Amino acid sequence: MEYDCTVNVLKFGGTSVGNGARIAQVASIIVQTLQENTTPFPVVVVSAMSGVTDQLLRIARHTCLGEHEAASQEQHALRHKHIEAAETLVPESERRAELLRDLDQAFTSLAQAIVELRQAAERNQDVALPTAAVAAWGERLSIRLVAAAVREAGASAEAVREEIIVTSHPQSDPAQPFGIVVGADPLASETRANADRLIKPLVARRVVPIAPGFIGRTITGFATTLGRNGSDYSATVIGAALDCTEVTIYTDVDGVLTADPRLVSNARLLAQLSYAEAARLSWFGAKVLHPRTLIPIAPRNIPVRVRNTFRPHIRGTVVGPVGRSQSGATAITTRRKLALITVESVDMFGAPENASQVFALAAGAGAAPVAICSSSGHHLSFLVEEQAADSVIALLRHDLDNWKVCCRRGLAACACIGSGFTADPMSPARATTALAHERIPVVTQGASEQGITLIVEDRDSERALRCLHRDLIAPVIPLVRHEAPGQKKKRLEA
Ligand code: ADP
Ligand code: ASP
Ligand code: MG
Repeated sequence: MEYDCTVNVLKFGGTSVGNGARIAQVASIIVQTLQENTTPFPVVVVSAMSGVTDQLLRIARHTCLGEHEAASQEQHALRHKHIEAAETLVPESERRAELLRDLDQAFTSLAQAIVELRQAAERNQDVALPTAAVAAWGERLSIRLVAAAVREAGASAEAVREEIIVTSHPQSDPAQPFGIVVGADPLASETRANADRLIKPLVARRVVPIAPGFIGRTITGFATTLGRNGSDYSATVIGAALDCTEVTIYTDVDGVLTADPRLVSNARLLAQLSYAEAARLSWFGAKVLHPRTLIPIAPRNIPVRVRNTFRPHIRGTVVGPVGRSQSGATAITTRRKLALITVESVDMFGAPENASQVFALAAGAGAAPVAICSSSGHHLSFLVEEQAADSVIALLRHDLDNWKVCCRRGLAACACIGSGFTADPMSPARATTALAHERIPVVTQGASEQGITLIVEDRDSERALRCLHRDLIAPVIPLVRHEAPGQKKKRLEA
């Protein structure tokens, strides 16, 4: 069949689908996109309603621990949340009855998944996959609501019930506590075949596909996830499989800002950001994009636009091959709860090739380094997530002869990011001076083409973020206030 299959992927996060009224707003954005004849056809990827994945994972933990009363209370609350949203979205009618029946069936299947998890836990079997099977229901429920909302708004839409993303079998860790999902790796060619089978026929019929983010299926048929907050990644995996023109991540902020607006009140919106800058930003803790989001699309130069569901008149941030091309820092971020591990040879004659052994051991303990801070022939120091520190240290101490292993916990990395950072040779000095003025000690630091990373005590990290933003960003990036079209008119009339 010959048809135009140029698509844009629109991804809506948990807050954007947080209740019935918000889902209705999402539907109106989708319908508006459809009406703009110049934009490619939308393929929609959605997260679970905000808080729902947490709730499902609490149900999973209670189930594994035999706390069945607590699990059933959570199930009840979950059901109420979705039914309330459905009733807000669809007025009393046969359509509403149909949606409620559909949700009912979904809740029956979720109950079945919970029973299977309970049986696995009772038999002391690995619970990683049955936990993922429970967690997957957040997105499987939200796609039903969003599809119904788009239909209410007057367009054709269908929830994609089968998982599009095919994944590897995730490596489960028996030491993990209950109620944790393990992220699996998507398989590109199998996912592409699934996208051809499940999405393209809908696009050909001009029906908006509403696909679940976060979840996938192994080749052998088990439900999996791409890891917590993985819906951004799902959107780009699906986008790459469809050779899309752009991926738009709709969220609850105007775009990528110069710092987390929850921590810095006057953070600036960045109109443009390079892939390298955005990757660094998310690696060092900016939740706005999942760290793996750019992997499927950056090699093909497909742009990602980050926009606000609640202020759709703002064009947001375009993440693409080129950035802002200005000198100095572009954004500041912090990654918290880190531990610095130092490995030192006792006889002062270690060899650099030991570094590969150290990192292989750290990876074996499930802790790839967050950053490598310093090294010399006989010493190496790197950061890992604090929760992984004990197992890394135990493994290093067990396997390395003649090496002393030390650890300092309670640290955070403050990253000053910008492809133009090194263009101004005084930038690193400006960053350390900013912290010195506030009497914030720097434990150690790392540097790259994309900026500088200052390691501070975790308790100082928010103060450090604010003072770095004040001294490095505020003087050079102007603050632009965006108003809705109506607001500006009202202000001029006043
Ligand atoms: P969603 O539910 O849409 O996926 P997330 O909560 O995962 O949304 O990500 C959006 C949040 O990311 C924002 O509310 C904001 O607090 C946080 N954030 C952290 N750093 C930044 C940044 N540099 N720019 C924008 N948002 C940021
Ligand atoms: N619902 C999933 C989570 O909360 C994925 C996402 O929202 O990105 O982790
Ligand atoms: Mg997110």
